[in-house]
Amino acid sequence: MSRVYNFSAGPAVLPEEVLAEAAAEMMDYQGCGMSVMEMSHRSAPFQKIIDEAEEDLRDLLSIPENYKVLFLQGGASQQFSAIPMNFSAPKNGVADYIVTGQWAKKAFQEAGRFITANKIATSEDSTFSYIPDCSDLPISDNADYVYICENNTIYGTKFHTLPNTKGKDLIADQSSCFLSEPVDVSKYGMIYAGAQKNVGPAGVVIAIIREDLVPAEDLPTVPTMLQYKTQVDKKSLYNTPPCYGIYICGKVFKYLKKNGGLAEMKARNEAKAKILYDAIDESDLFSGTVRAQDRSLMNVPFVTGNPDLDAKFVKEAAEAGLVNLKGHRSVGGLRASIYNSMPAEGVQALVDFMRKFELENK
Ligand SMILES: *Cc1c(COP(=O)(O)O)cnc(C)c1O
Repeated sequence: MSRVYNFSAGPAVLPEEVLAEAAAEMMDYQGCGMSVMEMSHRSAPFQKIIDEAEEDLRDLLSIPENYKVLFLQGGASQQFSAIPMNFSAPKNGVADYIVTGQWAKKAFQEAGRFITANKIATSEDSTFSYIPDCSDLPISDNADYVYICENNTIYGTKFHTLPNTKGKDLIADQSSCFLSEPVDVSKYGMIYAGAQKNVGPAGVVIAIIREDLVPAEDLPTVPTMLQYKTQVDKKSLYNTPPCYGIYICGKVFKYLKKNGGLAEMKARNEAKAKILYDAIDESDLFSGTVRAQDRSLMNVPFVTGNPDLDAKFVKEAAEAGLVNLKGHRSVGGLRASIYNSMPAEGVQALVDFMRKFELENK
């Protein structure tokens, strides 16, 4: 068996230990005589899997009791519609969006189908290469919430300080930074994340919602499946959930707990990112594309300035076992995603390769 260092932005690398455990349990999950993939979502063993997953996630993030945890489907993108439909259309029908990348822009545009969505700040003028100053934004008096994408997967920026929402509830797409560091959940009305970036397989979306935000009554014009009330009332089991994906997420939660929790993940992620950013900053060939103070610990975009050389880098890196280093199609260049499960050895191997490539292509 030979495993590569996979720098994909998502679906992305998972802990080998988790994959090995899942492989060992594939034919017979803990004496059930079947795989979790073949198991009823109404069965006792699956109920235990989803209950433990929630419990472990609550432990990891110290989620306050007045927050609900949901395991949903439809990708992070489905939340772009569900959020305005549940949290704004039934109230004032107004929400404020901070647009710092493609995902925030899509969320903003989607919200515009259902409510009045205001773009109160953006960094699009500079290809989303920075996070705007959000200390004193023109928050709308009647905004039902303020929306951010906390880590911009494509552009490699991150909110290192949360915006001043002037008392409005903050909703954050944390897809590409979820569980990469401790967060104070009580500062948010809702956090959500597609699992396939930092947590597990595609097909699961994790949502953490302050319970008073969940509409108390049925929303007659909102599809049943898109109502948070439905999912809260049925504890994520209104219909068949993505059982296997939830099972893997649960294993990742246990792995994180066993490895020192989110404080330790943050320390490791900072150390890994430093190795890579230092190499970029010291290089004469490679340069970073975002403002240094806004750099993401998870997604690191860089360029040589020459598209042919970028392509050569991607190709030769792959031959050396360092794969998926091509930048997003909308920006080009290079991008290394170094999520929780990317070992420091992988980042070091990338940096060693970059130095070698630079010498050979002077
Ligand atoms: C990948 C990504 C999405 C889209 O996720 P899907 O599950 O494909 O809908 C949304 N937001 C962020 C920050 C992402 O990284």
